[in-house]
Amino acid sequence: ADPSASAIDDNKVFVAVRVRPLSASERERSKNAWDVVDDEIIVPRDGSSGTYVFDRAFGDGSDNKAVYDATTSRIVENVMKGFNGTVFAYGQTSSGKTHTMHGTADEPGVIPLAVRDVFDAVRRQGSDRDFFIRVSYLEIYNEKIMDLFAFEELSSDGDDDSTSKLSIREGKDGTYVSGLREEVVSMPSQVIALLERGTKLRHVGATNMNAHSSRSHTIFRMIIESKAIAGGTDGAGVLQSTLNLVDLAGSERMSKTGAEGERAKEGAHINKSLMTLGVVINKLSEGVESKGGHIPYRDSKLTRILQPALGGNSKTAIVCAMTPALSHCEESHSTLKFAQRAK
Ligand code: ADP
Ligand code: MG
Repeated sequence: ADPSASAIDDNKVFVAVRVRPLSASERERSKNAWDVVDDEIIVPRDGSSGTYVFDRAFGDGSDNKAVYDATTSRIVENVMKGFNGTVFAYGQTSSGKTHTMHGTADEPGVIPLAVRDVFDAVRRQGSDRDFFIRVSYLEIYNEKIMDLFAFEELSSDGDDDSTSKLSIREGKDGTYVSGLREEVVSMPSQVIALLERGTKLRHVGATNMNAHSSRSHTIFRMIIESKAIAGGTDGAGVLQSTLNLVDLAGSERMSKTGAEGERAKEGAHINKSLMTLGVVINKLSEGVESKGGHIPYRDSKLTRILQPALGGNSKTAIVCAMTPALSHCEESHSTLKFAQRAK
């Protein structure tokens, strides 16, 4: 990112919580245990334990567009000015992370809405700047990095040990994933098609698709490069920035799932990476980095990969998703505590 790009108000992490509606089956078996008040407060209905206050809170009446507008649109604006940005979806399995990030054909999520906004901005600035946009899509599963655009290599034979496991390297511009494919794109429909193909690869090798997808992180990245056109009105010469849109693994604790063997190993990796993410975000929010303090990016692949787009002048938002079901009250409290620590 270009440090000379005009300053943005602050580098605090924007923390939002989204309570999804009760599903039909939850409605039969459980009650709604939470209220959302004044678009920023989450209150347990039984009055038992404390209330939680966030930058924004979304109840079951809110749609993906509202979440996008509050958490991500400003980050996209800043990415177009040369700042790096990252948006996370955090929460237990089935809390609405993927719904928020990907959405549906009827209700596009944060990722397609961001893609559309980026290309709208490109069109608006078309007479002043030349743009070059690339996208990549990776999955971190058991601390192994898979390229979700490695369409030929990750065939559908279910081979989880395929050649497309990637490693992290340190270059002159910081950390990068060696060999990760970047597709050059010029319109939203092209990006959406790539995303759909990549998301299918996410499931390769999994005996249970849901189990696999809930136990891995994905990072969808847009890299936006631009340069001023001679004679244009835009003063900023060359800009490069990245936007990372991250669908995290389910945050439910392993103890609850009673995991053994391979599952226990996955759980330990997930716990470690989400815990590291929590610490990193907390330290960034407290301004530890600007005071020269240590941020433990290196403690997980997730934070190492995202380091260039978390520290410095980067803009970060996290959407913590939760189910309102009383039966998941304990997990929801732990999600809310994570969200609270991120502020
Ligand atoms: P996660 O990715 O956190 O495991 P999902 O996004 O897959 O959870 O959501 C679990 C289920 O709940 C899906 O069937 C999804 O369609 C539904 N769902 C999640 N959020 C919402 C929402 N805000 N409105 C309606 N349905 C939702
Ligand atoms: Mg999901």
